Amino acid sequence: MQALSPWASNARRSRGRRIAEPGLDAAQGFRIDRERIVHCTAFRRLVYKTQVFINHEGDLFRTRLTHSLEVAQLARGVARQLQLDEDLVEAIALAHDLGHTPFGHAGQDALHDCMRGHGGFEHNLQSLRVVDVLEQCLADFDGLNLSFETREGILKHCSRANARRLEHDEPGGVGQRFLRGLQPSLEAQLVNLADEMAYNAHDIDDGVRSGLIGVPQLMDVPLVRRCHDEALAAHPALAQRGARRLLFESIRRMRDAQSADLVAATRSLLREHAPADAEAVRHAPPLVAFGEAMRQAGAELKRFLFQALYRHAQVQQSTERARQVVRELFDAYVQQPDEMPPEHAAQPQRERAVADYIAGMTDRFALREHQRLTGRALFADAA
Ligand code: MG
Repeated sequence: MQALSPWASNARRSRGRRIAEPGLDAAQGFRIDRERIVHCTAFRRLVYKTQVFINHEGDLFRTRLTHSLEVAQLARGVARQLQLDEDLVEAIALAHDLGHTPFGHAGQDALHDCMRGHGGFEHNLQSLRVVDVLEQCLADFDGLNLSFETREGILKHCSRANARRLEHDEPGGVGQRFLRGLQPSLEAQLVNLADEMAYNAHDIDDGVRSGLIGVPQLMDVPLVRRCHDEALAAHPALAQRGARRLLFESIRRMRDAQSADLVAATRSLLREHAPADAEAVRHAPPLVAFGEAMRQAGAELKRFLFQALYRHAQVQQSTERARQVVRELFDAYVQQPDEMPPEHAAQPQRERAVADYIAGMTDRFALREHQRLTGRALFADAA
């Protein structure tokens, strides 16, 4: 294993776990977190959760699981070059979407609406709730009892109201930085940007595969155009070898260009601010960042994907039906909690118990449950 930079998180100096586990080797800290995440139930559910396309629309589209693996892969590559802790980066990346509802953002928006007046629903907070409370696979306690640094990275965003609640339950814990305006570790900052890089890249691929985006349209996005032209210049035969292969090579170059830019810009920020250690990073401005030109190029690509893909009539239509599935499931379980498994039905706060249960569902299980409880199939084409 290569040496860590002085500002990297270090498992030996971790702020520790909420429940002390004296038997654990401190030096193995973040590796243990990663193992617990990969073996937990919520992690396996990611395979049947939507990223943009509903799970039954095709076998080759990204799911939350493949997305999480791509985020981990990208983040790990950058972490190695910056000498950050790769195990921590990977643990955060693999866990960052554990709290996502079925049907992607549509599901989360619908659940948040249902939970208005009951504390709301945020997927980042739910990811933390999964690893802190909801997982039941360890012998001695609920949750995975992860290190502070992994939990801090999982909680990417948090409303002030939720941060105050967290701070109340865990003073000086993972909610504090949202109240004091501090940064998370470099590893957490990196996974945050790797998340963006991953979905910008794979949504181009999925968008074209679905037929909702055309390659000529993509050529209006300067970053994609540049990578496409470079790919053709380096491999002229690609012009005859099929559009898919050319697109793959263009996307691969785009990921590489963004990673290289991220490494260079971050190195220069680290030189400029020279934080003394991992703790000083929290009091500095964000230090993991793209250079200005790449930041703008990424923002352009994001705007394009928003208009051309996420707002596409066909995506919107399945999004609307997905919202309806979640709303109707929520109402059904609140009225008849015994339709849930006993451990959920027995929870004292009924709405929260229902939200936890629905958030844990895969797309296809949610559709099956919806049909069972309402007698209607909103996605008649689903298996
Ligand atoms: Mg993500």
